Amino acid sequence: MASLAIFDFDRTIVNEDSDATIINRLREKQPPPEWEASNHDWTPYMSDVFEHAFAAGLNQDDILGAIGSMRPTPGMQELITTLAEGGWDVLVLTDANIYESLRPFLDEEKCRQCVPTPSSSGICSEIVRFSFQEHITAVITNCAFWKNGRLFIEPCMQQAACARCPSNLCKSLALAQWCAGRPPYQRVVYAGDGRNDFCPATNMPAHATVFPRKGYPMEDLIKKTLASPSPQVSAQVVPWENAYTILEELFPGRLIPM
Ligand SMILES: [Mg+2]
Ligand SMILES: [Zn+2]
Repeated sequence: MASLAIFDFDRTIVNEDSDATIINRLREKQPPPEWEASNHDWTPYMSDVFEHAFAAGLNQDDILGAIGSMRPTPGMQELITTLAEGGWDVLVLTDANIYESLRPFLDEEKCRQCVPTPSSSGICSEIVRFSFQEHITAVITNCAFWKNGRLFIEPCMQQAACARCPSNLCKSLALAQWCAGRPPYQRVVYAGDGRNDFCPATNMPAHATVFPRKGYPMEDLIKKTLASPSPQVSAQVVPWENAYTILEELFPGRLIPM
């Protein structure tokens, strides 16, 4: 019976935030101020960011270079390798986009091959599955594609079922889709940091373990609900600072002193 480890990407698998990395790179180009004024959903906002990045002269190599510069969180490589060796399914579930989520793991050639063709409706609602690196079973994220040197983002899904999450991605819904039709998992663990990691945390079964990164919104939201009369999280909660904490929790004694 397999087990499942789910990871957010930004500030979880990598130590930085990929969208912020791109935005900072764009700021260096001093684009006209109106691009910061938009306050709509994140996915169209990031699409605007990439439009302005393109107009400001940031090309595909600049964007990929910025994305590729992000480093894994300390211990993450060891953790994911250990999980894979133990036969776990490792799922990356992120509101970034395919380029940002895949780039750190792939050489450019593979990355280009992995980008799906957008459907004729322009909406990529299917769950995107890649076997891009032997240790990661799949990535579920927003779609992205290059056209004439500009990166376009399309939502992972269009949902109105969960009021807590943005229309382009509810991680609980995505997880339910992933698990549907698969045999039940023996163990389920979820590691993340952000607001949108709280929704799936509330849907984790009592035997699951949820790892909220210390000092980030997911931890605050979990603390609040656990202190309330009717907590929405029933899973075991283990806050983490780096991935060695998760490794030690899941594989006690496995940690080799450096
Ligand atoms: Mg995150
Ligand atoms: Zn949700």
